[in-house]
Amino acid sequence: MDQTKQEEDYGYDLFPERKKGKPSQGLIRESLFTFHHKCQFMLQVAVDTSPYAKLLLSAMKSSGCKVFKDRHFSCEDCDGTVSGGFDAISSQIVLCQNNINQQSHMTRVVTHELIHAFDHCRAHVDWFNNYRHLACSEIRAANLSGDCTFSNEAARFNFGLKEHHQECVRGRALRSILALRNISRKEAEKIVDEVFDTCFNDHAPFGRIPHSKKDANFANRDYENRGRYYASL
Ligand SMILES: [Zn+2]
Repeated sequence: MDQTKQEEDYGYDLFPERKKGKPSQGLIRESLFTFHHKCQFMLQVAVDTSPYAKLLLSAMKSSGCKVFKDRHFSCEDCDGTVSGGFDAISSQIVLCQNNINQQSHMTRVVTHELIHAFDHCRAHVDWFNNYRHLACSEIRAANLSGDCTFSNEAARFNFGLKEHHQECVRGRALRSILALRNISRKEAEKIVDEVFDTCFNDHAPFGRIPHSKKDANFANRDYENRGRYYASL
């Protein structure tokens, strides 16, 4: 398999700045500079204020994977409509500065990718060869990041369906896998269905599905208080 082919199969074609020898940005450098700073600012707001992000960062720290903003996040230009990604080789979260324009979107992307980073930290995930591992993490990320909360889905005009949250999670996991790996829709559906129940019911580190920011706040408070009872014995 040649290098280009490999990159395409693993979704690296969506992240052109991840490729070696990227061309210099020349005349458009100034506008990219602005995008870049806006992206870094919104990232800072997300990690400082989002209960989802705060909980995930504490959970990673206690699992021995402390996240450093400058080392583990990277604001870059991406292709197509992709918003972010987790690069398992460098353990870096890519934030697509040209596709994220709003704080709420940034917070959701940061949370989604931190769930992948958390999975990468706590388990020996074989992202490249084991599609079940990838599917499981995509199901968890869609389920727990707020990607499928009512307001986000209402904005997409997808509300009102029965078992709606589960369908949303399944659909988003499928879409992510199809964007990242060169497999057929049928194959991807089969893999998602095989692992769905187990991974949908794995709510770590939240302890519940955070259906809203309020839920995420409760989860974060419980997480922060988890050692208190034992500590006071
Ligand atoms: Zn994902």
